[in-house]
Amino acid sequence: MKYTEKASELAAREIEARRTAALEEQRRRETEITARMPEIGVLRKKLRDNYIRIIKLVATHDNRAAETAANIREESLSTSESIALMLENSTGDRNYLEPKYTCPNCQDTGYVDGIRCECLEKLLMKYTLEEMSSGSAIKLHDFGEFRTDYYPPGEIRERMIKYHTMFVNYCQDFGGTSTKRSMLFMGETGLGKTFFSSCIVKRLGEMGISAAFMSAFDMLRTLENEHFGRAEGDTMGHLLTAPLVVIDDLGAEPSQSKFYNTFFYNIINGRINRMLPTIISTNLTPDIIKARYGNRIASRMLSEFLPVLFRGTDIRQQKSAQRIYST
Ligand SMILES: [Zn+2]
Repeated sequence: MKYTEKASELAAREIEARRTAALEEQRRRETEITARMPEIGVLRKKLRDNYIRIIKLVATHDNRAAETAANIREESLSTSESIALMLENSTGDRNYLEPKYTCPNCQDTGYVDGIRCECLEKLLMKYTLEEMSSGSAIKLHDFGEFRTDYYPPGEIRERMIKYHTMFVNYCQDFGGTSTKRSMLFMGETGLGKTFFSSCIVKRLGEMGISAAFMSAFDMLRTLENEHFGRAEGDTMGHLLTAPLVVIDDLGAEPSQSKFYNTFFYNIINGRINRMLPTIISTNLTPDIIKARYGNRIASRMLSEFLPVLFRGTDIRQQKSAQRIYST
C-alpha cells in the first residue's frame, strides 16, 4: 500500500512521541522509587554491577569464568525477583519500572524485525484517510449533539430517535467480529443523513477505527485525476481497504463522466467482496440511482445495503422507496 509522504511523516512523529512519553514516564517512576525506596536503588545498582562483571568475565577466557558467570547470573535473577516483589507490594505492579509502551510488540519503534508493525500500519491508514477526507471538509459531529426537537413530534421524531440508537450500536458493534453492514441513507437534504454519517465517523475514530469520509464528487474527481496522472496517490487502493468508507451526497456531482460509474462500481463491488462496509447518503430515489448509475451498480447497492430512510415531506419519494424495499 502506498501512503502519502505527509501521512508517513505524521505516523512516524506519533510513534516517536509515544516512545518518548513511555521512556519519560519510566524515568519519572525510577526517580520516584529511588526516592521512596532507596533499597531498590541499591539492588538495581547491584544488577548493573553484575552485568558489567559478566561482560568482563567473558573477555578473560578464564577456565572458571563460565562457572563464575553462571553464579552471578543466578544471583542477578534472584535480585530481580526481590525487586519485583518489593515493587508489587508497594505499587501493585511488579514491572513498575519497565517502560509502558503503547505497542509492546514493537516497543513503539514502528518496526518488528525490519517489518512495519501493525500499529504503524494503523496510523498510516488513519492519516492517509484523514488527508483524503480533508478535501471534502465535512464537519464532524458528535452523537451528543442530536436534537430531537429538530424533528416534528410523532412518527418522524420517533424514527430519528430509533436511528440514533441504531447508529450508536452500529459503532459499538463495529469493534467486534460480526459482519458490519453497509447502509444506504436516503432522503431529502437537511434531514440528518450527513449529520449521522459524521457522528459515526467521529465515534469510530475515537475507537481507533479510521474511515474515509468524502463527498461522492470529490471522491470520483480524485479517482479520475489519479487515473489520468493529473494527481498522485492511491485513493482507489485506500478506498478498497479502509475499515469504513462514507460517501456523502451521491448524485450531487455537477458533471457526469463515463469513468465515474466504473470507479463507483469498483468501489462498491470491491468492498462488498472484501466484506467491508460502506455508507452512502443520497437524495436520489432508487429509480433515479438505477437510471443514472446503471443497473449493475443499483442492483449491487440495493441488494447489499441496508436502506435507511430519512423521511421528509415528499410522500412520492417515500412511496417509491417503500415500493422498492417491500418487494
Ligand atoms: Zn507496534
